[in-house]
Amino acid sequence: MIYIVNDDDTNICKARFRPTIEQAMRRIESQTCIRFREQQNERDYVLIYNGKGCHSKVGRSGGRQLLSLGYGCHDVGSTLHELCHAIGLYHEHMRYDRDQYLNIEWENIQPSMYEQFQKVPISQYRPAAKFDYNSIMIYGSKAFSRNGRNTMTPRNRETKIIESHFKQSLARSDVININTFQFG
Ligand SMILES: [Zn+2]
Repeated sequence: MIYIVNDDDTNICKARFRPTIEQAMRRIESQTCIRFREQQNERDYVLIYNGKGCHSKVGRSGGRQLLSLGYGCHDVGSTLHELCHAIGLYHEHMRYDRDQYLNIEWENIQPSMYEQFQKVPISQYRPAAKFDYNSIMIYGSKAFSRNGRNTMTPRNRETKIIESHFKQSLARSDVININTFQFG
């Protein structure tokens, strides 16, 4: 994956911004077939910057694509999560078969955030690994809650979902999903 880091405007975050990104990249390289390289003259690349919020396009969109690591995302886990979007992973809780594993508590979700919980059709995203509560691509169980209650509850009540923020590496399932992609 070709990238540029723009840390001109990170101010107080600057000390952590680039080292955290590099740490996350090395982590992905050690676990998968993905390699990161800084942009030289390639047309397609990911611009990583300290924007508003944390978001990335899924997969390679062509030309310059933006990956924002804003306030609250300057940790390895959140960076891994966004980099995996750019590599091509969708949210684990949005996969076609998630209803077998999760109850989505619509009444607790902020209505403007409903689309964060819509399923991605299998025609668009067919991950190789089985659903995984430990995926780096799953939200925490109270993500976008409007009342402090769970927005997602594992159907297996013994399981706890941990948000990517607290993780240091990809789950085995994420590695399988990435390594079985057909990269063009
Ligand atoms: Zn995400």
